[in-house]
Formats: sequence, structure tokens, C-alpha cells
Amino acid sequence: MRRPSPRFEGRPLVSPLQQSVVYATETPSSLDAIYRDQSGYTYSREGHPNATTTAAMIDALEGAEGGVMASSGMAAVSLALLSCLKVGDHVVGSNQLYGRSLRLMEEELPRLGITSALFDPTDVAQAEAVITPNTKAMLLEVVANPTLRIADMTGLARLCADRGITLILDNTFTTPVGFKAFEHGVDIVLHSVTKFLAGHSDAMLGWVAAQEPAVTERLHILSHTWGMTAAPFDCWLTERGLLSFPLRFERAQANAAALADALADMPGVARVLYPGRSDHPDVARAAELLGGQNGAMVSFELAGGREAADAFAQASPLPLAPTLGDISTTLSHPATSSHRNVPRQARESIGITEGFFRMSVGVDPVDTLIEGLERAARATL
Ligand code: PLP
Repeated sequence: MRRPSPRFEGRPLVSPLQQSVVYATETPSSLDAIYRDQSGYTYSREGHPNATTTAAMIDALEGAEGGVMASSGMAAVSLALLSCLKVGDHVVGSNQLYGRSLRLMEEELPRLGITSALFDPTDVAQAEAVITPNTKAMLLEVVANPTLRIADMTGLARLCADRGITLILDNTFTTPVGFKAFEHGVDIVLHSVTKFLAGHSDAMLGWVAAQEPAVTERLHILSHTWGMTAAPFDCWLTERGLLSFPLRFERAQANAAALADALADMPGVARVLYPGRSDHPDVARAAELLGGQNGAMVSFELAGGREAADAFAQASPLPLAPTLGDISTTLSHPATSSHRNVPRQARESIGITEGFFRMSVGVDPVDTLIEGLERAARATL
């Protein structure tokens, strides 16, 4: 990954952080030209140099043009939905989306006169059953959190194309390394940049772009008007994070595969979920869609329920943290965090029991990680 740096003698190698909210011009005519030709900066809610640089780096990863930096991953989700929905429309989405995306669809959009329905993304027939003549958009993630089930992207993209539905993909989990959204019929792709792309849990950002330049332009306008603009400092930190993203992700994926296999042999571990393992329920689809880039997320279930979960977390060297994509490995317990508001029966019906953990694997030395997890697993017995 390279910095997109302007070429002039004596230029700084690292992009300067430009905190200025406003940009001065010489004359009304030159200001007029900047607005008319979109050739510079006027006010940072409408763009600033650090957003331009960071967006260009993510554009290069996703094969996109002119992507929008947004203030968070949720701002990117909101912009994508706002760009194609209006009062009276209907939107459908995976029933295993990130929790806040589900709340946006089920609690916020109805206040704007937009209705929604959810379906199991591994089953195209279920999607077909919830689509109505007013369905204008479908929101998906390729790999579900935390069950790591794989959506039928090929079937769902075909369905959207047949019905004239805008397909929006949250590619946060898979990253552009794992899944090239625009090559699979996706219309709008977005990221919580906060996660793997920035990678150090110190910047909160989103990014969103469309296949169609006119839609990307609309995403820019929406972000300026709704005020979802990214802050310069977060973009500056993210530029640094992005430089190491491909290396970090390569190492994290190798670590995840090794940890998944090691966990499967540990005492007190009832099952392990990793898309690269032959016992994953969607292993064939994972191979087809991810092409061996099986990701850095591993889920597993302890046999001993909540008691075992507490013992494991206490004996484990990993921080229990409700996030993912950090440079180091973190553990999360969905039943008490991301899925705490899902009724127990519904939660358990998709396998999220009291003994279920999701691990976001980082670049730490894998032997040390395995040793630590073994100690934690023995503590559950
Ligand atoms: N999408 C996914 C898949 C996520 O996991 C998250 C956050 O965890 C988001 C979107 C929201 O991102 P942010 O926290 O940057 O708003």
C-alpha cells in the first residue's frame, strides 16, 4: 500500500495533518471556481486534504473511485441507505447484520416512512419471500458476525439485478482483500474503517462508494448535508494504519487458521467456527467467494456455559473487548455484549450460547496465543 502523495521537490513524506475547518481564497472568482470545478477545499465538512488522501487509499483497495470518508462505519451505513431510499420504500437485509445496522433498519427508518424485512442470507428463497414491489435496497455482509455463516452472495446479487434492487454490502469483516464487492454485482460498498483498515482501535471512520459515479456523488452530498464528515485527525491516523493493512491482514489470517485448528483440540471446547475449516457449515461457499482469504475472525463454543466462559476470560491473556480488527487479538462474548438484547431463545437458535466466544485475531506471535488459549481452556474444566 502506497501513500498517494503529490510530487514536488522537498515535499513531506508523511501527509501533513490539516485541522483547519476553513480554507481561504484570494478572490470571489477563485472561490467561485473552486465550487464550480470542485477543485479545492472551502469548508472541512465538505472535504479536506486528509479525507482525500485516505479515501484514495481505500478506493485503490476496493477498485472504487471518489469514495466518501464518513465519521463512522454507521455513518457509512446510513449514507448508503439514505442514497437510495425515500418515504414509502422498503428495504430488506440479512437477519445477522451488525446490531446497530439492524436497529437502524427496524427502529429508525420506519420513522422516515421506510419499512424493512429481514431474512437468512444463506437462503435466497427466504430473501425472495420478503421482497415486495416497493423493495429498493438490500443490505448484506458476506460473513455474519459472530456465527461466521457465509451469505449466498451470487444468488442474492442475481436476485437484486433481476428485481432492480440496489445491493449494498458492508465489507468490514471480509475487507477488500477477502471480497472484491464490485466484481460480485454489488452496487454500493462500505466499511467500518474503524476496524481492520485503520487497525489500531484509535480512529473511528467509515468509507462508502458506489459503482455508479452519480451515486457516489450523491453520497458526498448527503454526507455534507447530514454532517457525517470524517475528522482530519482520524483520517491522518488511518492513513498510517492503511499502509500496513495488507501485511497485518495476511498475518492475522494465518494466525486465525492456526488458532482455529489448535482450539478444536483443546479441552472444554465443544466446537470451532472458521470458514477455512472443513467442518464449517458453508465451507464450499467460503472457498468460492473468499478464494482462500478466510478472514481473521474465529468463533468457538465452550462446553461449560457461562461458568466456563467466565473462567476462560479470566485465565486468558486476551482482552475482552467489544470490537474487532485491532492489530492485537481480542475476545468478545456476544451473549453479554453485541447480542445481549436478543432474546435468549432466538440467540441460542443461531448457536450463540453462554459459552460462545468470538475472537478477532491480530498479528501477535501465534505460539504465545496458542499457549495462552490452552491455559484458558484448561481453566474451564
Ligand atoms: N459494520 C460492522 C460489520 C461492524 O462490526 C461495525 C462495528 O462494530 C459497524 C458496521 C459500525 O462501525 P462503527 O463502529 O465504525 O460505527
